[in-house]
Amino acid sequence: MHNDERIVGVETIVGQARPGWDEYFMQIAQTVATRATCPRASVGAVLTRDHRILTTGYNGAPRNVPHCTEVGCLLVNEHCQRATHAEANAIVQGALHGVGLAGAIAYCTHQPCVNCSKLLISAGVERIVYDKPYPDAVAIELLAEAGVALIPFAALLSRSTS
Ligand SMILES: [Zn+2]
Ligand SMILES: [Zn+2]
Repeated sequence: MHNDERIVGVETIVGQARPGWDEYFMQIAQTVATRATCPRASVGAVLTRDHRILTTGYNGAPRNVPHCTEVGCLLVNEHCQRATHAEANAIVQGALHGVGLAGAIAYCTHQPCVNCSKLLISAGVERIVYDKPYPDAVAIELLAEAGVALIPFAALLSRSTS
């Protein structure tokens, strides 16, 4: 009697908590963002293919360069030039470890800027899912010209995938 009740309870909890793939990878991107070292923004990116993680990135200083949290940001025209953006770091991780990114889906906590959009295009990413809007008309135009899908995460939440 007690065992049956416990099993039913666990199944119910698992059934409610199990996220779809888009939700799962966006949750991971948000966790990746917590590692950011530029105090101006916490951004995370996860590149996936066939439901597997290829690389991850958060915004922070290049290898062997002190982080913003240690020596302060390097501001030029209100933008921090010390930190590399999360999406660029995710692509660099692929270069460092020899992971091809062709056909990947990028899950980004923020809508990618122009430079990151160009890198994602050239790296072979086919779809970008972003959470927080950060509209940039030039980035949107270039992604459209390249045929890369740019999809707000909110638009996917109603869809469930298994
Ligand atoms: Zn910074
Ligand atoms: Zn960027």
